[in-house]
Amino acid sequence: MPHSTALRTVGFIGLGTMGREMALNLMKAGMAVRVFDVRREAVDELAALGAHAAQSVADAARGADAAITMLPNTPDVEAVVLGEEGLFAHPPAGRLIIDMSTIAPAAERRMHAQCAARGIEYVDAPVSGGPIGAKNATLTIMAGGTGQAYEMALPFFKAMGTTVTHVGASGAGQTVKLCNQLICGINIQAICEAFALGRASGVNLRQLREVLMGGSAASWMMDKLGPAMIDGDASAGFRIDLMLKDLRLVQEQSHTLNVPLPAASLVTNQYLDAVAHGEGRNGNQALFRVYDRMTAQTSR
Ligand code: NAD
Repeated sequence: MPHSTALRTVGFIGLGTMGREMALNLMKAGMAVRVFDVRREAVDELAALGAHAAQSVADAARGADAAITMLPNTPDVEAVVLGEEGLFAHPPAGRLIIDMSTIAPAAERRMHAQCAARGIEYVDAPVSGGPIGAKNATLTIMAGGTGQAYEMALPFFKAMGTTVTHVGASGAGQTVKLCNQLICGINIQAICEAFALGRASGVNLRQLREVLMGGSAASWMMDKLGPAMIDGDASAGFRIDLMLKDLRLVQEQSHTLNVPLPAASLVTNQYLDAVAHGEGRNGNQALFRVYDRMTAQTSR
């Protein structure tokens, strides 16, 4: 594999909210990027910005040093990796597959084992930092896999993120990400509850948030999602349905390992409530609508 990032070629599959920005950052780092998505318009848009428009998953991987996937859920990654026309059957020339989606750790371990048997390196490397981190190449990346695979993947990670850590063997990246999501979900719920109590008590929510941001209750979620909650802007950011997917993965893992997580169960049910009320495509801050319904109040 060449040492200069400028000489690297990467196949990138999944050009949604996150993948589009991540592929662009690989291009900015001087790499040749071969892009594929089932949405043709997403491929065409990046092709207009200098990427190679691939016709299929196999075509994206053709001649590449690595193939990166950024897809919604476990079955999507399994289809792209293990499917007839997938990366397992048509590996990149550099024999490195990096999955950056958030999916089940057990599925990553299965794909890792299948790849290892064929001399293909496989790394699970989910991310945190949202669309803004993806755009600014400041993602936190938590990688699971062999030390050798991690070293091979590092130049790609460095083009997309700032905090990059090898957290253990295959599946460990996803486990760390699920811990991250568990904290995020419960934190969003805590903010919704504080805002519901403050609102019912007649406190100005903007001032409440400002004060809390200066004290020990401050958090990334309060900083980034608080204003949208107060403004009633449900639309932007990381989608409710993706967070519910992650919380389901947390439940799956905790049930498999017999680890009781009562707060995670509660917040999962609130996300189910949000999705049942049609909020799935909205941003995470739309969890406040569950509290609007429970308190029969809106501050907006
Ligand atoms: P997204 O739904 O916006 O994008 C996914 C893309 O994959 C879409 O463009 C879709 O057309 C494409 N796709 C689906 N199946 C495909 C297939 N078989 N072949 C090719 N393309 C296919 O999702 P996103 O927000 O970009 O998130 C991607 C992953 O990253 C998810 O696992 C999510 O949980 C995780 N994540 C998202 C965020 C965020 O803030 N959005 C943050 C961290 C992690």
